[in-house]
Amino acid sequence: MIYESILEQLSTQKCKLTLQRRELLKILIRAKTPLAAREIYDRMMKKYPSMSFDTVYRNLSLLQDLHIVNRLDFQEGRSRYELNRTQDHHHHLVCLKCGGTWKLRACPLEGININNTVPEDFKVTTHRFEVFGYCRQCRQ
Ligand SMILES: [Zn+2]
Ligand SMILES: [Zn+2]
Repeated sequence: MIYESILEQLSTQKCKLTLQRRELLKILIRAKTPLAAREIYDRMMKKYPSMSFDTVYRNLSLLQDLHIVNRLDFQEGRSRYELNRTQDHHHHLVCLKCGGTWKLRACPLEGININNTVPEDFKVTTHRFEVFGYCRQCRQ
């Protein structure tokens, strides 16, 4: 269902639905944790061995521009990507040692109308919030 609605969104934005883009979306839908571009590339290679990392990266940027994908910075020196599911607003807990991520259901801005707290001519579209620490395994 998510997949179909993204495809619809892409076609209304006149974005070509290449097989590679479809595969990229499927990978992101299946992913249990936000993935680095390199990890997405490795998964793409299984189906499209001749694909370049550049192509994957460019497609990710495009999907990000269309607000279909969110780019996340977990302070690892690389970005990670996940689908932007508007119905599923969440933040992340990030383990500083293993890089594991967990969804954090609480949002620090919940119940706050952020647009009331910023200058009138500023329109807020999104926000970021990550919590860093060490997971149980990495603390042992
Ligand atoms: Zn850990
Ligand atoms: Zn939030």
